[in-house]
Amino acid sequence: MTRIVLISPYELGRQPFGLAQPARWLDDAGFEVRCSDLSIERLPADALAGADIVAVYLAMHTATRIALEVLPKIRALAPRAVLCAYGLYAPVNARALRRLGVETVIGGEYEPHLLKLAERVRAGETHPALGVVSDTSKIAFRTPLRDALPPLERYAGLVMPDGTTRPTGFAEASRGCKHLCRHCPVVPVYEGRFRIVPVDVVVADVAQQVATGARHVSFGDPDFLNGPTHALRVARALHDAFPQLTFDATVKIEHIVRYPGHVEQLAESGCLFLVSAVESIDDDILARLAKGHTARDFERAVAICGSAGLQLTPTFVPFTPWTTVEGFRALLERLIALRLVESVPAVQLSIRLLVPSGSHLFEIDGFADLVDPFDDDMLGWPWRHPDPEVDALQVRIQAIAEVAAEREEPRRRTFERIWTCVHDALGEAPPALPADIGAPAPMHSEPWYCCAEPTASQLAAV
Ligand code: SF4
Repeated sequence: MTRIVLISPYELGRQPFGLAQPARWLDDAGFEVRCSDLSIERLPADALAGADIVAVYLAMHTATRIALEVLPKIRALAPRAVLCAYGLYAPVNARALRRLGVETVIGGEYEPHLLKLAERVRAGETHPALGVVSDTSKIAFRTPLRDALPPLERYAGLVMPDGTTRPTGFAEASRGCKHLCRHCPVVPVYEGRFRIVPVDVVVADVAQQVATGARHVSFGDPDFLNGPTHALRVARALHDAFPQLTFDATVKIEHIVRYPGHVEQLAESGCLFLVSAVESIDDDILARLAKGHTARDFERAVAICGSAGLQLTPTFVPFTPWTTVEGFRALLERLIALRLVESVPAVQLSIRLLVPSGSHLFEIDGFADLVDPFDDDMLGWPWRHPDPEVDALQVRIQAIAEVAAEREEPRRRTFERIWTCVHDALGEAPPALPADIGAPAPMHSEPWYCCAEPTASQLAAV
């Protein structure tokens, strides 16, 4: 029998849909599938030794950086296997992957192509590799094979403000995105398209996770409200089937502002909080990124979520070539004023604009002059800020964020250290933080982020 090992280097502490969905397709076709999640277990040496195909799932930058470290080890442990990489970050990093012996690189809706590769290996083709494929055609999603993955209790949970933890499942109701934000890694692959997972498939997937203990589900869709009718159908169907289940989803600020009634319906269906890629509170930077919202819209979205009884968990790209130290301080001040300090993991305040291969950031006049030649090790176009103080500040904030994640430090304490750091950079004494910086928010116990560089301990663990 043809043996296939699917490997996820990292998926933010969540049980990967990107392993469970293709595992179903391959299992249905009679292949022997073994799934391995390197965020919680070591490389499966025995399985790799007998593998005919090893396919590594690259959903995000962090995972891809880890994969570059681990692929030579996979090659050594699986000397006769055909190597494949698939997922959003695979095609844009094809050059680096091919240098490590990966001859099949699949982006977009990857399941049919993984199946095709498997069929070619099973048929004994001499050169089964598919090269680089990026395909966003509609596919027929199936109920993911969750049994093939480590049990849910080994994954991150949702830590509630009262300190209790809810076992958390992970689902996807869509892939891709209809928007074209310039810095977004979804855009070079999906180019404004998105694909939905049918409601019955989502419900069946969640049902099997509820059966193994999930009390909360985190949706990994790039934007849950890309298809508002579909999203509301999913939310209602889940609530009807599991009235006690809560969930969170990612929704862009523009959609929150446009659909306040939908936000209310999500809350009524058990949504606890919405994650939103705010990125910046500087309107010039937001315009450069083509985010489709302004700083004022961010404030409106906070108010809309508050009225619906939802928490808004903003994410940021605070360090860009246009950031100033004063602008970074203004971001912290805005978080204090909006009482959102407890809703923002420290890593969010350390993110540096990532410029991946194929980035639409090059549409910005003069952007090409800001970057150095592409760096295959960091998987991006490096850039230096014209003001070295901004780069130095980013390095210090990143160090604070890494220590905070390692120590599971309270968010207020970490924020205070960042607050002090930016005031030091400005040569000012930091004002005392107000007592009320916002209520503690529900948060995932895995505090890292998809665009962040992997930490030394994440790399050492593989
Ligand atoms: S940043 Fe969000 S809304 Fe913009 S293209 Fe990416 S996924 Fe879509």
